[in-house]
Amino acid sequence: AYNFNAGPSALPLPVLELAQQELIDFRATGMSVMELSHRSAAYEDVHNEAISNLRDLLSIPENYEVLFVQGGGSLQFSMIPMNFLQAGQKAGYIMTGAWAEKAFEESKLFGDVYEVASTKAGNYRSVPSIDELKYNATDAYVHLTSNNTIFGTQWKQFPNTGDVPLIADMSSDILSKPIDVSNFAMIYAGAQKNLGPSGVTVVIIRKDLLEKANKNIPTMLKYGIHAKNNSLYNTPPTFGIYLLGEVLKWAKGLGGIHALEKQNEAKAKLIYDAIDQSNGFYAGHAEPASRSLMNITFTLKDEAAEKRFLAEAKQAGFVGLNGHRSVGGCRASTYNAVPYETCKALSDFMVQFQKVNG
Ligand code: PLP
Repeated sequence: AYNFNAGPSALPLPVLELAQQELIDFRATGMSVMELSHRSAAYEDVHNEAISNLRDLLSIPENYEVLFVQGGGSLQFSMIPMNFLQAGQKAGYIMTGAWAEKAFEESKLFGDVYEVASTKAGNYRSVPSIDELKYNATDAYVHLTSNNTIFGTQWKQFPNTGDVPLIADMSSDILSKPIDVSNFAMIYAGAQKNLGPSGVTVVIIRKDLLEKANKNIPTMLKYGIHAKNNSLYNTPPTFGIYLLGEVLKWAKGLGGIHALEKQNEAKAKLIYDAIDQSNGFYAGHAEPASRSLMNITFTLKDEAAEKRFLAEAKQAGFVGLNGHRSVGGCRASTYNAVPYETCKALSDFMVQFQKVNG
């Protein structure tokens, strides 16, 4: 299938093939990874190797912990204010789409939060300009969403918030391009787009933040407990972490983060070019300066054409091109594991469809 699903999304074929080979007898243990004790040396190797490969790929500095937790990106929306919002403090949220809204709504349950900036009035076609961001020096943190999966926008440059901890939801673009981890106090991402299967959430967190966290919260929701126990406080999602580790090895084999970025740019360009060269037959949702390399959102000149486009695309083997139910239109998610050839097939299909229907 030409898989453009927004998440869970395509996994690299070589990783799936390896997992299939190793499914029953993992590295001569006579057991599946799923059957290993999470306290066994064989599993601990898998676990630690995944952490160390993520550190390498993203150049994560020593003063950050890499954690694997559960509950998806969505549980992070609650864990962040629970851990870091203290009485008398505020936290600022930058509103760039549906996931930022969800994070903001959840944070209201825990304390005093406010909107730093919002692009909602323009139907989230862009991210705010960095100069517009107004927050307080005393804020517990500022939260942003680096890539807006539903609207198809992405930050190209991040604000430097100085002493105010900057927390980023990178669920839909982590590992797609180099980032300066030291600009952030915390980064989190559900694995199911660029890193592996759903069920694992990666948290990259600066150690000093852990020390400041609230203490009177449930044990499993404390970042500190997971950090102290190398994400082995309870039974982690071992099979998911194994697959995530194999995705990271695959990414390293491709040449690492710069190679991934280059490939992602080339893939997205194929589809944006089909939009831009269509004389308005296709219209991109995002403003060009905020366009995402991961989720390409567009509409067709009218609803009937759009319906036909989606139906014919489905027939031709394209999967997941319907826009999110909240915005409609079309969306092609071109995460790391989506091959260049798959994007080429879509851009050719778009050009051909326009020829016949334009
Ligand atoms: N944040 C972003 C940017 C997302 O795209 C998603 C899911 O698509 C989420 C958070 C929610 O993640 P989860 O389904 O893992 O809770």
